[in-house]
Amino acid sequence: MRDTRNIVILTGAGISAESGLATFRGPDGLWEGYRVEDVCTPEALRRDPELVLGFYDARRAALGAVVPNAAHAALGRLDAEWKGGLLIVTQNVDDLHERGGAKRLIHIHGELLSALCRACGGREAFAGDMIDGPACASCGADALRPDIVFFGEIPYEMETIQDAVSEADLFVSIGTSGAVYPAAGFVRIARAAGAETLELNLDPSEGSHWFGESRTGPASVLVPEWVDEVLARQG
Ligand code: NAD
Ligand code: ZN
Repeated sequence: MRDTRNIVILTGAGISAESGLATFRGPDGLWEGYRVEDVCTPEALRRDPELVLGFYDARRAALGAVVPNAAHAALGRLDAEWKGGLLIVTQNVDDLHERGGAKRLIHIHGELLSALCRACGGREAFAGDMIDGPACASCGADALRPDIVFFGEIPYEMETIQDAVSEADLFVSIGTSGAVYPAAGFVRIARAAGAETLELNLDPSEGSHWFGESRTGPASVLVPEWVDEVLARQG
């Protein structure tokens, strides 16, 4: 087994499911009762801003009722104790990784607790509601939108992420369906660079065959077990 120094972890909605947040495409193909095209695209925001802002206002409000689970806490512990390189890339827009103690973290798809100004492009920490909400603190325009990367928009910090993935010795994907690109392609970059690859998911995902190893089960069980293993390797 190759010496493990650099770890990259990709997480998706499945890691927050046991905290009570719905995953993206439930069995009915909807996210919290909405069609993805109606709430997750720039066209939807232009067509019906009240619907889109209201949808994300509700998701933001829901954060107050949930807490990190054992999987988030285990990654927080790994971040504190792992002496090598580590990057946690989350597709989640919730703040449960932060509350679980993760520091080396990138929100590739944006975050609920941030606002993006359509007028000046500024991003700022945001709590509360955007419908009838405040103006942009930087430019004063009444133009705040959720700081969420919609379908068709460019994910955040791609260069940093791609560099980390191509330098990874170990790439681990947790609770993601492997259906949303470019994140779904990271495993192939990691493999091509010679990394060990591991998937932890409730069921085998669409991309399972790309991983050297796949373990199935709830994140709250699999992630703490894996963190114990990897920290034991560090000695
Ligand atoms: P997804 O819903 O497409 O896939 C979730 C995956 O998690 C599935 O493969 C499912 O089998 C697995 N899963 C469900 N419960 C699990 C558990 N307890 N333990 C382990 N795995 C479990 O989500 P995705 O792949 O993250 O992709 C879609 C997009 O949805 C992301 O871009 C994200 O921005 C957005 N999203 C975020 C949140 C959030 O922030 N919590 C919630 C919903 C959607
Ligand atoms: Zn502004």
